[in-house]
Amino acid sequence: MTTTPTPTRTPLSLFVLGQGSDPRSERGVECPGDLPPASDPALVERARRAKAELGDRVFVLGHHYQRDEVIQFADVTGDSFKLAREAAARPEAEFIVFCGVHFMAESADILTSAAQKVVLPDLAAGCSMADMARLAQVEDCWDVLADAGVADVTVPVTYMNSSADIKAFCGREGGVVCTSSNAKKVLEWAFARGEKVLFLPDQHLGRNTAVLQMGIGLDECVLYDPHQVNGGLTVEQLRAAKMILWKGHCSVHGRFSPQAVTEVRERVPGVKVIVHPECQHEVVLMADEVGSTEYIIKAVEAAPPGTRWAVGTELNLVQRLAKAHPEQEVAFLEQHVCYCSTMNRIDLPHLVWALENLVAGHVVNQVTVDADTEHHAKLALQRMLDLPGETTKD
Ligand code: SF4
Repeated sequence: MTTTPTPTRTPLSLFVLGQGSDPRSERGVECPGDLPPASDPALVERARRAKAELGDRVFVLGHHYQRDEVIQFADVTGDSFKLAREAAARPEAEFIVFCGVHFMAESADILTSAAQKVVLPDLAAGCSMADMARLAQVEDCWDVLADAGVADVTVPVTYMNSSADIKAFCGREGGVVCTSSNAKKVLEWAFARGEKVLFLPDQHLGRNTAVLQMGIGLDECVLYDPHQVNGGLTVEQLRAAKMILWKGHCSVHGRFSPQAVTEVRERVPGVKVIVHPECQHEVVLMADEVGSTEYIIKAVEAAPPGTRWAVGTELNLVQRLAKAHPEQEVAFLEQHVCYCSTMNRIDLPHLVWALENLVAGHVVNQVTVDADTEHHAKLALQRMLDLPGETTKD
């Protein structure tokens, strides 16, 4: 017999920027002390000086989607998983300043030692995709699967772009974490252990990997909507499905459209369309190449001069690629997509503020994961790392 629990709503307390903060939430919008004005002409010099004073005590990580003004101070750049592992490989660094978004800083805290402190220069730098799967909602979903008699044969898989407590849920329930580079390998691991996968939180990465790389039919994928009773699915649909996709998406990559691919092909003869697997299935089907940010960077780097690209990923990265490869024509795929607004929250004033506070002995905006969550999230991460070839991959 099925139950009909009331769906848990995504808590969204909105505050006008600069006018209050939610004490129950980590997403404060205030910076204690003085946030330097963006117009301060000395910001670059201040960041340089603070970083020099901290020396080896600080290690600055910069995600590919960060602004240039911040990336210039990064000791290493990369995708979220590469950055977390880079941080773990620097045990001498007392402070890890993560220029990225909140779930990335959590992963760095999970993978680094207890003595290292992870700082996110602006705590309001969240990720809309990660926010689309809250623990209470995922636990409700697991109850729905149990009532349908399929939880025992389902392996939960979460994309790296999820909060630490979702990774911990997967660790507890025999599941695993994946990245956009290894999603196929992880799904193979999961299907060797169960008949079904619950894929969190990005429906597009889940669908694209299952259908295009694993040969699973589109009709074997169902979409679980946490805002509908029983996810909007019947018991029969849950029992028949192989992939139960969480209804989440990236608010940047999800906006690239099939029309943009058609238009760019009409406008630019010979153009190669390369997109991230967080894009919609229809867009991925039309693209010439699909891959993670690291894959996109390497594909452009390896292409012969004169290659024309239309790239479907975050704009900061595409602009940097275009600058780094003037011998090729690198363009942004879509006219109606902008920067990732949360990634862009990390700006030079926040970086200067965080570094200068560290110099003064104040650890600000530290991101910590509690011991139990860390233990179970590590289990899910370790299952991924134990897959053949994963420890050597960048
Ligand atoms: S680009 Fe998408 S997945 Fe990445 S941080 Fe922004 S909203 Fe999240």
